[in-house]
Amino acid sequence: MEADSICGIAVTSNVLIVAGLMRSPESQNAGETMSIITKTFPLNATTRIPAVGFGTFLINQEEAAAAVKAAIGVGYRHIDTAAVYANEDGVGEGIRTGLKNNGLAREDIFVTTKLWPGFSEWNEVPKSREQTRNEFQASLKRLGLDYVDLYLIHSPHGGTQRLEQWKALLDIKEAGLARSIGVSNFNLSHLEEIKAAGLTMPEVNQIELHPWSQKPALLSYMKEHQIAPIAYSSLAPLSTWRTGQESAKSADMLAESQIFADLATKYGVSEAQFLLGWGVQNGFAVLPKSLNPERMRQNIDFGGLEISEEDMQFILTLDRGNGIAWSVGDPTQVK
Ligand code: NAP
Repeated sequence: MEADSICGIAVTSNVLIVAGLMRSPESQNAGETMSIITKTFPLNATTRIPAVGFGTFLINQEEAAAAVKAAIGVGYRHIDTAAVYANEDGVGEGIRTGLKNNGLAREDIFVTTKLWPGFSEWNEVPKSREQTRNEFQASLKRLGLDYVDLYLIHSPHGGTQRLEQWKALLDIKEAGLARSIGVSNFNLSHLEEIKAAGLTMPEVNQIELHPWSQKPALLSYMKEHQIAPIAYSSLAPLSTWRTGQESAKSADMLAESQIFADLATKYGVSEAQFLLGWGVQNGFAVLPKSLNPERMRQNIDFGGLEISEEDMQFILTLDRGNGIAWSVGDPTQVK
């Protein structure tokens, strides 16, 4: 699938802005020879997202600066964080050092952060439109940035305030403080709520997507409404995924990881590269997280991988439904 036609968004300009770098459409479409580091997907008429970004969930404030600096050093040009990860200060420091060390400018990096919406069942007060705008400013301050490339509502937990939060994101984009805006963990019903209110639809929905959680009905709705998918927890089927850390992964799932080991061997790549390649081949931007320098490099080095149609069809049969990244259950299921 051509990057430029993902989600049916036409790119009309004959010069594309690629994470701040100017590239011709020809170099964008160089196909198989195009490095995975420079591959991007469109989010709106002027904004493209790198196909591979660096995830920072479960990286604490102290580790974040060094990890993000290292990630930029090996070629990542998208950093994904969130207010609730409590590491935005460290991420911001890592971005500044990483850019400086590599002779890069702010426009050369794509930065995503997310609003924690608040959830009444956890004794939190869902944020209002004004509080959302204030939360965004607080994130900018912690990151040390004057704009972000993508701002997301982290999950649909905001309930009665969900539409007010979305209106605040529209305000933020209108003010030029976020180049693109979207949601995360929204299901069809949450997206329909925005549509029914007559509001501009999100440009992005960041959701858990891997062979065990494929969400075909949601993806089909998103394609129809030009909402770009970003995949998180692409590596969930790996036996090394979040060892000893929080998730809803059960012991019986561990036994099924061998399928991916076999497929990876067949294509001469690591299991992680296979799973990330599967995501990108489906048109999903991916966000691998690793604190291990070798894995960090490996996760952005799978450019030549092309999974056969037959194997793509086989993987469709492995879908288990809901995601496992949130220990409380897949957040797309909240009311
Ligand atoms: P992930 O990136 O799919 O997997 C990370 C886990 O896999 C870590 O335990 C890591 O361990 C291990 N790993 C990484 N590369 C590996 C490799 N090449 N070989 C073997 N093991 C490897 O999981 P994730 O952190 O859940 O998701 C990625 C990012 O998506 C997050 O960091 C966050 O930015 C975002 N996210 C968003 C949401 C949301 O609700 N919007 C939810 C979850 C995640 P080491 O660090 O030890 O290498």
